[in-house]
Amino acid sequence: MKKNDLFEMTIEDMSKDGEGIGHVDGLTVFVKDTAPGDRIRARVMKEKKNLAYARLEEVLEPSPYRVTPACPKARSCGGCTLQHISYEKQKELLAKHVANCLTRIGGVEQAEELMEPLIGMEDPYHFRNKMQFPVGLDSEGNPQLGFYAGRTHALIPLTDCPVGHPVNKEILSAVREYLSESGASVYDEERHTGLIRHVLTRVGFSTGEVMVCIVANGDDLPKKKLLIEKLQQAVEAYNRENVSAKDGEECENIISDELKLTSVTLNINRDKTNRILGFSGRTLYGNAVIEDTIKDDVGDIRFRIAPESFFQVNPVQTEKLYRKALEYAELTGKETVWDMYCGIGTISLFLARKAKRVFGVEIVPQAIENAVENAKLNGFTNAEFFVGKAEDVVPSLYAKDPEKYRADVVVVDPPRKGCDEALLKTISEMRPERIVYVSCDPATLARDIKILSGRGYTLKKAVPVDLFPQSMHCETCCLLSFSG
Ligand code: SAH
Repeated sequence: MKKNDLFEMTIEDMSKDGEGIGHVDGLTVFVKDTAPGDRIRARVMKEKKNLAYARLEEVLEPSPYRVTPACPKARSCGGCTLQHISYEKQKELLAKHVANCLTRIGGVEQAEELMEPLIGMEDPYHFRNKMQFPVGLDSEGNPQLGFYAGRTHALIPLTDCPVGHPVNKEILSAVREYLSESGASVYDEERHTGLIRHVLTRVGFSTGEVMVCIVANGDDLPKKKLLIEKLQQAVEAYNRENVSAKDGEECENIISDELKLTSVTLNINRDKTNRILGFSGRTLYGNAVIEDTIKDDVGDIRFRIAPESFFQVNPVQTEKLYRKALEYAELTGKETVWDMYCGIGTISLFLARKAKRVFGVEIVPQAIENAVENAKLNGFTNAEFFVGKAEDVVPSLYAKDPEKYRADVVVVDPPRKGCDEALLKTISEMRPERIVYVSCDPATLARDIKILSGRGYTLKKAVPVDLFPQSMHCETCCLLSFSG
């Protein structure tokens, strides 16, 4: 087969990026927008030694797992890759992906037997508390906010996004109006000119606090008052509509009915980069942070969150995930615990309630500032936080004072690339009884489990938690014990 050839094929499986996989003439072929069980006609786009990428031309016989996507832009947008597949099937695909990684990469025997059933959502829409919309111009030169099409930086204008909080619809239209009325220029990635780059929104699902952060290639905005007025009107419009639609479609993921605009900030990013946020910023209205709460079995824990800080995007599922991490940690009140990659101290404070002492480490300084405040805000005096790379900070503290900085339980929750090997080495030297590994990428999780199993740790339990419905991303919580 060569480029532009048309062929027919049945989709057998899904790739980790949400493409359907089939086989033709000994080639493994990847096709977006397909579902396992589809019989399709497709056109070859790119061909390599044993694999090819093809574009879907026609679904000849639809898979029984196909459903109509909730979003009209689902196919062009790069955000959701599985909206056309039933949620039941999505959960099955994710659990299978985690099991495969554990077996093939992690060398775990009988992975499926030690895995608990995937924890999914009741309502897999309107769950995201954070959105980041790139700003650009449409073909007529009007400012637009939207999403990048899969794997490119072509802007798809959006007026709403069904996986986000419904207030985003009002915010998108308010910012669009502000852009056309204020004359603020729109950032051009290629020329590195223009001002407004991205708009980040975050909503405290249980507190109703709304944050809007404008990311700009400069340190000021024209007509700031106009922006604030438009945003206030947007939140008021949402509250009015939401109250009148009370007996209509309520969303069980959203706890607070009434929203308030709590924080409008400017983030300055002058770099020619794909990274969305820059390293400095200032408050234009209200506070620099918003607050949200997560419940453990005793009560609410309150968190202050800065725009630069990481905070899990799906509050309903985050609570289930953290409760699992706490369950796997098996704390009795006597333990010293390390929470590595701790962000604003979310897991740390869940642990602090049940442990003697908690240490947290995190690379983003604003997140550590939040973590220290959050411990105070909730009255915890047994949590201490360090800023820096976990792989530098932990080995050096442990070398300095092994008695003080050893741990009975270690929790790690690294970004997608997983843990640094130097960190895994120090962790195994500390020899905690248990390691709780919270991961957002099953492949690097499995790689690290293999390294830890070479250092005396055995995987005991694993549970996938779906934090990102409609996509192949999957969170996994694992328990490893020292077995010598
Ligand atoms: N446990 C937290 C955060 C998890 S996300 C929560 O559940 O909210 C991963 C965190 O690791 C992010 O906050 C990121 O800023 C941080 N991080 C990334 N690389 C790091 C490194 N090398 N050392 C320490 N922290 C790092």
